[in-house]
Amino acid sequence: MEREQGPSITIRERELDRVDFVLGNVDLSVANALRRTMLAEVPTLAIDLVEIDVNTSVLADEFLAHRLGLIPLVSENIENLKYSRDCTCDNYCPQCSVTLELTAKCDTDSTMNVYASDLFKPPSPYSLGTPVYRDHMERGPIICKLRKHQELRLTCIAKKGIAKEHAKWSPCAAIGFEYDPWNKLKHTDYWYEVDANEEWPKSKNCDWEEQPDPEEKFDYKAKPNDFYFDVETVGSLAPNDVVIQAIKTLQEKLASVVIELDKDKVEGGDVPDGGFTTYGRTDYGRGGETPMIGGATPYGGSTTSGNSSGYGGGTWN
Ligand SMILES: [Zn+2]
Repeated sequence: MEREQGPSITIRERELDRVDFVLGNVDLSVANALRRTMLAEVPTLAIDLVEIDVNTSVLADEFLAHRLGLIPLVSENIENLKYSRDCTCDNYCPQCSVTLELTAKCDTDSTMNVYASDLFKPPSPYSLGTPVYRDHMERGPIICKLRKHQELRLTCIAKKGIAKEHAKWSPCAAIGFEYDPWNKLKHTDYWYEVDANEEWPKSKNCDWEEQPDPEEKFDYKAKPNDFYFDVETVGSLAPNDVVIQAIKTLQEKLASVVIELDKDKVEGGDVPDGGFTTYGRTDYGRGGETPMIGGATPYGGSTTSGNSSGYGGGTWN
């Protein structure tokens, strides 16, 4: 059977915070790079600095700060926010952070619950930085409980970051990743008592591939072709945004390699100094139609990572 040209994506299920898709016609290394980038290198917003004025709750300041950091914040339009380290300000400013305030005091005999929805964000045209609510009461995760006379007064500074630095910035709760569900390639060694086929449940992805003939000779040259992804987000970004942003991040990384390699050829041309970061996030981050891959460079000129792939364009409706 002749393989179709270029990567393909088949979306099998889509929910508010989840997408299940099959990535086809790519190498295992590419599929795994996408998985790892989605997990650890897609920028989001998370609380990074907490200034505590009053905390008479039972939770220590550090404990509270940690809980606040893990609250998912809406990160759409995060590209409009700078990284604090790239900003010209001293510490943080509106260009590189979002400020949230929390004031709560319990005056009643019953326990008071403080929720993420109690975090106050000054009104702005963007929802960037608003805590993510998924419960029907729209209260978000619980931060702490207060008894009578206990009080919280604090200011949170949310900053842009990636999960490589701290897991709180990960847009993903989990990513399911599977290939070769029939284990034809023997990459998996199943433990068993009598018969592995009897004792191990079959993956649902088995329905997507032909059952191998047990008599068939082992093909030691075979490579996996289809990769089954199940991306579950924490709500800060839509699942399709997570996939697209991860692909852009990968493209930017590849572009910076191409540029660095081309730099030697240019020899005093108009390529400014400054290396990776200068190119990374400015001119080359436009996803599908970017000319950086598949352009005139010798690096992957005719690859399908660029224009006509199933990644960028009309796949996400
Ligand atoms: Zn700043």
